[in-house]
Amino acid sequence: KNRTADFDSMTTEKTAEADELAELFREDNIEKFLARGEELARDKEEIERIIKESVNLEGLSPEEAAALLQIEEREMLELMLQTARQVKETIYGKRLVLFAPLYFDNICDNKCLYCAFRQGNDEVERRRLSQEEIKKEVEALIEKGHKRLLVLTGERENEDLTYLLEGIRTAYETGTEAGEIRRINVEVAPLTVEEFSQLDELGIGTYTCFQETYHRPTYDRLHPSGPKSDYDWRLSVMDRAIEGGIDDYGIGALFGLYDYRFEVISLLLHANYLQERYGVGPHTISVPRLNMAAGAPLDNPPAPVSDFQFKKLVAVLRLAVPYTGIILSTREEESLRDQLFRHGVSQISAGSRTSPGGYEEARQRDSKEEQFSLHDTRPIAEIIYELAEKNYLPSFCTACYRKGRTGEDFMDLARPGKIQQYCKPNAMMTFKEYLEDFAGDELQERGESCLEHHLDEMKENNSDLAGRIKERLNKIGRGERDIYL
Ligand code: SAM
Ligand code: SF4
Repeated sequence: KNRTADFDSMTTEKTAEADELAELFREDNIEKFLARGEELARDKEEIERIIKESVNLEGLSPEEAAALLQIEEREMLELMLQTARQVKETIYGKRLVLFAPLYFDNICDNKCLYCAFRQGNDEVERRRLSQEEIKKEVEALIEKGHKRLLVLTGERENEDLTYLLEGIRTAYETGTEAGEIRRINVEVAPLTVEEFSQLDELGIGTYTCFQETYHRPTYDRLHPSGPKSDYDWRLSVMDRAIEGGIDDYGIGALFGLYDYRFEVISLLLHANYLQERYGVGPHTISVPRLNMAAGAPLDNPPAPVSDFQFKKLVAVLRLAVPYTGIILSTREEESLRDQLFRHGVSQISAGSRTSPGGYEEARQRDSKEEQFSLHDTRPIAEIIYELAEKNYLPSFCTACYRKGRTGEDFMDLARPGKIQQYCKPNAMMTFKEYLEDFAGDELQERGESCLEHHLDEMKENNSDLAGRIKERLNKIGRGERDIYL
């Protein structure tokens, strides 16, 4: 891949874009928003006004978001959390989408200071899955009940897309008696416009790439070499993705690298910039928190984010970009996870393994020790049990992408809160499938009563819809599969 050629081939308009981006994310520009937020936050009534008005689902200006990020008192945080909860339930209801990450390889030419896959780290055994191995991994995931995958790889210099495309094709074509994967999202290093169109032709769900940190000096320090050392190339990734035809994309920041307030305001500016320029905002924003990684030189987060701050930032994002999905990708401690679901997070990874070949290895281990064969399904089943117990609806829904409700079409439904008409029924139907095909007795019982609870709730608001959904749930009970709205 020739990145310089891709930049050169940009029209004058494109160069203007790169300049605009660099200008927008200048340190002093973000600092200016933070300072204005600090100013606003001195007035308690102003904070209350911002929180109260955010229930109208119109989002927040960067200054308003910066003001809410200043909240330190528990009482005010509570008020904001309650409002975020209301907004989340209006837009998405109580459903949580589940997915599994699938690493094709861990070979990388970058030296990100926080990552175990970094080039030169001897503590990690390098591996790139063959097509046969990819098939085995996907089979293992299907057998756990997964329908949505997120494919990840390291980054190689001068490598074309052949391997990635072939791997995605293999994953889509893999099926077992237990079902098939219905949506594949992709999280790989920034590509050229031409490469993005190849990826788009294959039919992927969401393309995701995190800026890691928007703070340029920190970025430069943490990404000392390899293609990722180019801050601007990464910052302009979504412009190229959209030009290549991808209309469903996700952004994110790795929290713990630099001041969380700086990252949140940058994420908002990025989302606004893309929305204004291309008419379609990010489908998701990811909020991973830095974990310590084997053999990575960074042994402490340079800017640790406390649980209090983490809850606050998730709530601010929920109020600021109400229609955007928020993804929690790391495993947070149970009580915090529960609060994050309530106040903002709408997608989580479940039963994750973050090494290439990890799922199949676990399966083989278990099949050798048969009395533990249930153990394999435990992590995802446990998460689902925990969700159902609190009447969250675990969802394996892939309907929007298959019905073509992506990009602006999706946003048109999500913005006024109409997406719930699809999300909730589809969550219920995919959850029912899961219960029928993968759940043990205890989980099945728990899950059925969660479904009953949601049917009753639906009956109160829309008894027609509730009737139709009940009928479909019964059909699934009788063996029909893959029914969706
Ligand atoms: N190699 C590609 C890239 O860097 O964009 C995509 C795959 S990479 C494994 C996916 C993400 O993992 C990175 O964007 C980074 O945010 C995250 N990551 C890396 N090291 C991490 C760590 N120690 N803790 C949490 N997340 C980490
Ligand atoms: Fe490579 Fe991505 Fe890890 Fe950086 S974060 S070392 S690019 S795999």
